[in-house]
Amino acid sequence: MSTDERFVHGSEGVAGADQVQENKELPTGVWTPWAEIKCVECVDTTHPMWTGDVDAIREVRPREQHEQSAICDRCGAEIWLPEGIAYEQKLVKALIKKRIPAHMQQTGGMCSACEVWNSVETEYVMAADVGEGYTVGPVYCVGLYKGNMEDGYDDGEYWDALTFDQAVEKIAEIWRGWQN
Ligand SMILES: [Zn+2]
Repeated sequence: MSTDERFVHGSEGVAGADQVQENKELPTGVWTPWAEIKCVECVDTTHPMWTGDVDAIREVRPREQHEQSAICDRCGAEIWLPEGIAYEQKLVKALIKKRIPAHMQQTGGMCSACEVWNSVETEYVMAADVGEGYTVGPVYCVGLYKGNMEDGYDDGEYWDALTFDQAVEKIAEIWRGWQN
C-alpha cells in the first residue's frame, strides 16, 4: 500500500494520517488569498493581495497538530498546510486524474474548498473537509449550487460526512450528469 493510499484510508483505521507523517520534516506552506498553494520560494509576494512575510515562516520543521502535507502548485515541493486545505488539494488532484477540471477556491475568511464548474458556468459543485481536526482523515461535505457570484446562487443540495472516495465519486457523478 502506498503512502497516499494509507493517507486516504486513514479515517478507516488502516493507519492514521498522523502516524504516517509524524516523523517527516517539511517547509511551512502558504495558502494564498487568491486560492493557490505555494511554498515560500514560489509564492508571488508582488501579488496585490499578498500581505504576508515569507521570511517569518521560512523553516523546515516537523508537522504541527492539524496539519498535513500538500504540494506546491508551482514546483511540486511537499509543504505543511492546515489539514483541510491539504485534504481538499488531494481531492482536486484525484478529480483532475479523472479529467474533471477541479481547482481550489477561497470560500471567505481564508476558508477553502475544492470546486468544479459545469461548462456553461451555471452550476458548480464544492467539496470541503469539515473534519476541523476532530477526526482522523478527511470528512467531506459536498454541495451542488446553481448561479454565480455576481448574480447570486441558490442554497443548493448537500451530501454530508463523506469519505475521500465517496466525495470523489459524488463529484464525478455530478460531472458526468453535466456532460449528458
Ligand atoms: Zn514551490
